[in-house]
Amino acid sequence: MQIKENVPLAGYTTLEVGGPAGYLVEAKTRDEILEIRDWAKKEGIEWKMIAGGSNLLVSDEGYPGLIIVNRTAGSGMTLDDLVDQMNSRGLVGMECLAGIPGTVGGAVYGNAGAYGQTISDHLKGVTTLTGFWPREKCEFGYRESIFKKNKEIILEAEFDLPKGDREALVAKSDQIRELRKKKYPPEMKCPGSFFMNLWFDRLPEELKKQIPAEKVKGGKIAAGYLLEQVGARGRKLAGAAVADYHGNLIYNAGGAKAAEIWELARQLQEEVQKKFGVVLVPEVQLLGQF
Ligand SMILES: Cc1cc2nc3c(=O)[nH]c(=O)nc-3n(C[C@H](O)[C@H](O)[C@H](O)COP(=O)(O)OP(=O)(O)OC[C@H]3O[C@@H](n4cnc5c(N)ncnc54)[C@H](O)[C@@H]3O)c2cc1C
Repeated sequence: MQIKENVPLAGYTTLEVGGPAGYLVEAKTRDEILEIRDWAKKEGIEWKMIAGGSNLLVSDEGYPGLIIVNRTAGSGMTLDDLVDQMNSRGLVGMECLAGIPGTVGGAVYGNAGAYGQTISDHLKGVTTLTGFWPREKCEFGYRESIFKKNKEIILEAEFDLPKGDREALVAKSDQIRELRKKKYPPEMKCPGSFFMNLWFDRLPEELKKQIPAEKVKGGKIAAGYLLEQVGARGRKLAGAAVADYHGNLIYNAGGAKAAEIWELARQLQEEVQKKFGVVLVPEVQLLGQF
C-alpha cells in the first residue's frame, strides 16, 4: 500500500474539478483501510473515504488530510456490477438502479435510487469497520442514511431479494441504461443531480398552490422544476454550465473551477429561495472548504 502525497483529486471525480489531497491511498482490503486509518489517527491527520467520486464536489484548494479511496471487493464494487449480478441470478429489486455510477458503499451512504427503487429497499444490514448495522438502525430516508452523520466506513452490504424473472430484469436494466444515456451522455462531466428534490408536504402553503398536480411524483417535486422557473436551463458561469434540457444538471463544460460550479449552484439556489421561499439542499457532497 502506497501513501502518495499532494495528489490532484479532479481525476478521482466525475466532475473533474478540485485541488489536491495532502495524502492519498487506494485501499484494497479491510486491513489496509484499518492500517491507513490508524496511521492518520496517530499522525493527527484528518481523513475521509471516497469511492467512485460520482457525487463529489472537491474545492479548488483540495483536501489537506488523507483521502482513502475504496478499492475493496465488497463495498468498493460498482453498483452497476451488483445490479448485473442480481439480475443474472433472477433477484428482483435492483434492476432500476442500473447505470447509476459509483460504488455499493457510496450508494448505501447516500441511499442512492432511481426509477422508484433505492438501494435500501431490500437491504438487511451494513457492515462497517466497527460492526454490523441492521437496516432499522441505518436511518434510511430520501438520499439519507446514518452514515452521513457518523464517520463509519461501509465495508459490506447484505441484501434479501425476492426471486423473479431473469430475462425481464435484464431487459428492464437495459431499457433504463438507454434512458440514462440520453440524460447523462457518457462524456458529460457532472455529479448527477446537483440538488435534492423536495417533499411536497413540507413546502410553504403558498408554493403548494403554485405546483401543478402532475409535477408531484412519489410525494416530491423535482428541484429541476423550480430551477427551470428561474431560468436555470442553459445558464453558464465561466466553465460551469447547466444542461439546456435539465435545470438540475450542473456540469463542467470545460476547464471549470470548483468555485465556478459552486458559484453557479449558489446563484441558482438564491434565485429559487427568492422566488419560492425554499432553500434547495445540495445532493452533491462537498469536500474541502467552500
Ligand atoms: C451521471 C450521474 C448520474 C447519477 N444518477 C444518480 C441517480 O440516478 N440516483 C442517485 O441516487 N445518484 C445518482 N448519481 C450520484 C452518485 O452516482 C451516487 O450518489 C453514488 O451512489 C455515489 O457513489 P460513489 O462511490 O461515487 O461515492 P463518492 O462520490 O466517492 O462519495 C460520495 C459520498 O459517499 C461517501 N462514501 C463513499 N463510499 C463510502 C464508504 N465505503 N463508506 C463510507 N462513506 C462512503 C464519501 O465519503 C462521500 O461523502 C449520479 C451521478 C452521476 C455522475
